Amino acid sequence: MTKQEINRELFDDVMVPNYAPGKIIPVKGKGSRVWDQDGREFVDLAGGIAVTSLGHAHPGLVSALQDQAEKLWHLSNVLTNEPALKLAKTLCDLTFADRVFFANSGGEANEAAFKLARRYAWEHYGAEKNEIISFRNSFHGRTLFTVSVGGQPKYLEGFEPAPGGIHHADFNDLASVEALISDKTCAIVVEPIQGEGGIMPGTQAFLEGLRALCDKHNALLVFDEVQTGVGRAGHLYAYQMYGVTPDILSTAKSLGGGFPVGAMLTTSGIAASLGVGTHGSTYGGNPLACAVAQKVIDTVSQPEILKGVKVRSERLKKGLMSIGERYGVFSEVRGAGLLLGGVLTDAWKGKAKDFLNAGIDEGVMVLIAGPNVIRLAPSLIIPESDIDEALTRFERAVKKVCA
Ligand SMILES: *Cc1c(COP(=O)(O)O)cnc(C)c1O
Repeated sequence: MTKQEINRELFDDVMVPNYAPGKIIPVKGKGSRVWDQDGREFVDLAGGIAVTSLGHAHPGLVSALQDQAEKLWHLSNVLTNEPALKLAKTLCDLTFADRVFFANSGGEANEAAFKLARRYAWEHYGAEKNEIISFRNSFHGRTLFTVSVGGQPKYLEGFEPAPGGIHHADFNDLASVEALISDKTCAIVVEPIQGEGGIMPGTQAFLEGLRALCDKHNALLVFDEVQTGVGRAGHLYAYQMYGVTPDILSTAKSLGGGFPVGAMLTTSGIAASLGVGTHGSTYGGNPLACAVAQKVIDTVSQPEILKGVKVRSERLKKGLMSIGERYGVFSEVRGAGLLLGGVLTDAWKGKAKDFLNAGIDEGVMVLIAGPNVIRLAPSLIIPESDIDEALTRFERAVKKVCA
């Protein structure tokens, strides 16, 4: 097959049509820059979808992957392996957790979290205690259980019957949770900052209130930190920013810096409910994935990197707000750290994709979070000069859309 034959049209011929990828095909990345098949260069403010936490082809990640590739790729969980043990120990040392389950994606980490919450309640309180409360507009993955817990009904359409016992409350509305919670509730599942739902931060009082409600009803508090975790919000995990500690936490996306890996973190008392044979994964804890994630965590957990996220966040936020003011496109820029959302004004409601597409034309990759929010989730170590260049290009894109 020639290079010319591997093009965007081929996607429509050979792929299941569940995605609508843009017209360019990137072939190379370095730091926060990406090049397409024609050699056109882009500044990357998307990071995949908040995934490439240390940019593209980070030398430390490349060598971690290469070193492990020459040693051992895979064993399965019939045997354990050094990279998985080391990474689990690191995650436990740096968080509330003292047990880790490895998966390959955010959806799988959540699947494990939700199954554990049910199993723990079943074991300690009986089969009746199986209800899960989550939130409208939340996103937890695309497996049947995780789309059912997720709060976007369109993702479940046509896939029913869904698993039962799942209720949805309103995000940042404690009263709506109080109306649903009972002693039959086994877990409340929440993203501390809703990502796909529009970069909507949970309020301090709301997350504290959920913790109190869980304690009152013997329910587990599950934080889905698949998007907010691993330095993204300016802390290793967002729960540390809020000072509200969950019972179970899921992490993925930035964790592998681009290599597929996910993890569920919990306490030893709760973990005990996933005894031998109750759950599993062929690839979970894969040595290649864990070796790369180790390097990501070792790097991102350094105080100067986390401090750098806050500095970059301020710079990006300021630039975005000033574009918003000049063109009247944003009513607000919200989020934390390097997970930022520019909320479109009424005049531009529903047009987020136009800004994304115009960005591609001007050489900058951004994301959307629903039809009304421009989402930015760049590398946590993006050079400040790349932020400035990206803002210059994005301003050109906005100007074009507004023309
Ligand atoms: C992306 C995301 C997921 C799903 O992760 P996958 O790796 O796509 O399965 C789950 N929860 C949140 C909050 C996410 O942002």
